[in-house]
Amino acid sequence: MKPVDFELHRPETLAEALELLAEHGADGKVLAGGQSLIPLLNFRLARPDHVIDLGRIGALRAIRRNTDALVIGAMVTYHQAERSAAVAETAPLVSAALPHVAHQGIRARGTIGGSVAHGDPAAELPAVFSALDATMVAVSRRGTREIAARDFFLANLVTALEEDELLAEIRVAPVPARTGAAFNEVGRRHGDFALAGAGAQLTLTDDATVSSARIALTGVSAKPFRATEAENTLVGQRVDERLWRRAADVVRRDVDPAADLHATADYRRDVAGTIVERALAAAAARALGNRTGSMEATG
Ligand SMILES: Cc1cc2nc3c(=O)[nH]c(=O)nc-3n(C[C@H](O)[C@H](O)[C@H](O)COP(=O)(O)OP(=O)(O)OC[C@H]3O[C@@H](n4cnc5c(N)ncnc54)[C@H](O)[C@@H]3O)c2cc1C
Repeated sequence: MKPVDFELHRPETLAEALELLAEHGADGKVLAGGQSLIPLLNFRLARPDHVIDLGRIGALRAIRRNTDALVIGAMVTYHQAERSAAVAETAPLVSAALPHVAHQGIRARGTIGGSVAHGDPAAELPAVFSALDATMVAVSRRGTREIAARDFFLANLVTALEEDELLAEIRVAPVPARTGAAFNEVGRRHGDFALAGAGAQLTLTDDATVSSARIALTGVSAKPFRATEAENTLVGQRVDERLWRRAADVVRRDVDPAADLHATADYRRDVAGTIVERALAAAAARALGNRTGSMEATG
């Protein structure tokens, strides 16, 4: 099918884009990488009168390090983030998750901001940013709003962004030394949305005690899922395989997956526990080897 007719706007600056959103936000859509929006338009599941393409706004494409945060512009592509040393060093869980997003072709166009604004609970980055307590920076002609990840993802494909707001950037606090991260998932085919995905990031003390734990899960609930109860079972404990198993059991208890054509809810629940256990073991091994807080993380 083809989309319904719409007027395409291609602003050159953020100010122009905000002006257009203030005017057309109620009956318009922002276009980023188009990897979700274009299929929605083609299937006529979205029928905007106006489409505002952010592709020409260079200011949204930067990755930079502030004193207290890694700042990822909304129009940074997955591909760009995957190759960023700043992301690998400062946000190893983001780095570990990126190779699991879709296919290389989609990662070349799809954007970090598009993934976050879309708010899909099956997507890797919304769950990862939830676990990392990231801050979403929304801008409109009315001003700037900083929204904590826990307040940003409201329901399946529903976020706290208002009609006249753009997601401009995502801020993530840098990791300390002795931090390691890993991400893994189970899917029918490489590049498909996974049946379930799990990421873990651990920070250890010098005597291998967990001082901070973050666990992200995809595909197991109606919103991007952070396993806070499982994280709590880890903090203050010495690194030990039995610990990962205990956290995995808590995850199996706490997730609330739905059944669909691809898998039953029970299967997803069981898989979620197993991949959390594996992610924790891999994250701990990396944390033990990382004395500087500056590491190259892989999936
Ligand atoms: C075959 C296939 C497989 C895929 N597999 C995966 C996968 O495994 N994991 C995964 O995470 N994703 C997957 N995706 C989705 C892909 O990652 C999308 O790119 C992503 O969800 C949206 O990013 P985008 O830049 O393409 O956004 P777009 O498609 O352009 O926009 C998505 C939505 O976000 C809004 N939006 C975008 N940017 C902003 C902004 N800055 N401010 C406000 N609103 C904004 C748009 O209006 C739209 O509603 C897959 C897609 C396909 C086609």
